[in-house]
Amino acid sequence: MWLGNVPRVRLAHLPTPVEELTRLRQEVERSPRLFIKRDDATGLAVGGNKARKLEFLVADALRQGACTLVTAGGPQSNHARMTAAAANRFGLNTVLVFDGEAGVPLQGNQLLDRLLGADMRFSSLPAPEALEEVARELRGQGRHPYVIPVGGSTGLGALGYALAMQELVEWGRDHETPIDHVVVASGSGGTQAGLEAVVWSQNLPSKIIGMSVSRAEAALAELVSAIATEAVRCVGLKREFSPADITVRDQYVGPGYAQVTPECLDAIELVAQTEGIILDPVYTGKAMAGLLGLIGEGFFEKEDNVIFIHTGGTPGLFAYADHFTG
Ligand SMILES: *Cc1c(COP(=O)(O)O)cnc(C)c1O
Repeated sequence: MWLGNVPRVRLAHLPTPVEELTRLRQEVERSPRLFIKRDDATGLAVGGNKARKLEFLVADALRQGACTLVTAGGPQSNHARMTAAAANRFGLNTVLVFDGEAGVPLQGNQLLDRLLGADMRFSSLPAPEALEEVARELRGQGRHPYVIPVGGSTGLGALGYALAMQELVEWGRDHETPIDHVVVASGSGGTQAGLEAVVWSQNLPSKIIGMSVSRAEAALAELVSAIATEAVRCVGLKREFSPADITVRDQYVGPGYAQVTPECLDAIELVAQTEGIILDPVYTGKAMAGLLGLIGEGFFEKEDNVIFIHTGGTPGLFAYADHFTG
């Protein structure tokens, strides 16, 4: 998949490092070889997976002559925070629409949104309608909004993770380490879709496993396949991905999106205390709980190489301090 013709700005520190999790492996019975790709270290206002997507989305916004980025998310949205940071880098304005309430005290991502100077709104409308409402308002004022759907999960945004998969392929080649499995948190689906696009286009033997943080398996597989189809179309390829091509697990979602589970809290502490790496309670903690669960099921061979993608989310952790007391 050749990405060189697609406009892209630079926002992230790439390639992100890959580290082996040897101490975690020693703690986990029947563990395969474990590696972590540090996409929490992309930079851009504390880092995370949205930096990669925004490289393509902001380039598209600039090409269209936009003056304002408009996006939506939950009150602790990492995507909203990184969108505001990306806008600032290019002198654009940002309107963020949250589907919750203003944080009291101002903490985590919302604190950073405020520091970044974003225009923060709160709405009870479903995100697509709330975004359209803001876009209409801005156009009425003669401004030129560029609307980014929740999570930046368009075909274009997903190309950020096509690039990440290409980095992994190169890393595997340089380190003579075949990549058997990639485990990643999957929410709005664009991250997994980008990885899948390259697995297909390069005919790789690697298997991507998306750990759902919100949706049921069938709905998530449907979403990821649709975005992957759109992603390859963005580079002039044609392939209709089907939900059957996509592997997802929903056993670690717990009560719902952004609601912590005991397994997730345990996984966060285990990784912090064995590896000194900080996961988050909304995405990467649940994805790690899922990876540990799969190891427990005997899903992997001991000699398999498994890459966990740390997609970031670090600021959100601070809004969950209460769950770690005691
Ligand atoms: C958005 C996000 C994800 C999920 O990525 P999608 O492309 O929405 O599936 C995972 N981890 C973190 C920290 C995120 O902010």
